[in-house]
Amino acid sequence: MKCVFCGCSDSKVVDSRYLKDTAIRRRRECINCGKRFTTYETVETNPIIVTNVHNEREPFKIEKLIESLKYASYCRDGINVEKLAQNIEKSLLMLNSQEISTKDIVRITIDALMELDTISALVYFTQHTDCDNFNAVQMFMNR
Ligand SMILES: [Zn+2]
Repeated sequence: MKCVFCGCSDSKVVDSRYLKDTAIRRRRECINCGKRFTTYETVETNPIIVTNVHNEREPFKIEKLIESLKYASYCRDGINVEKLAQNIEKSLLMLNSQEISTKDIVRITIDALMELDTISALVYFTQHTDCDNFNAVQMFMNR
């Protein structure tokens, strides 16, 4: 962070204050000219980029996942789709990969659903996988 007065890139922090939970306000003093200025730091979470079968890219949208989970678990009791979607998003973030294919998302989502409810997992599976593909069905049955 360059000093706004002299352009020197060395400064020391004289005061830090949290603004809510997501930003930090820092009071800095320039090593060179001694003048003070304020910087704000915010935490930025990198968006997950999803690539589909056509190699198109779009940012991951949790709302979309929630919708598909709602559909899959329709009429099934005891599934908190918002919480589940958040857990799936966490799993995606833990892959630590900048691009994730829709295939990976489907696989992770099926795994997560399987732990909660086989029927919902099966509905999700039929919605997101080509069911005419016998291998895919067999893969699912072998889980
Ligand atoms: Zn300065």
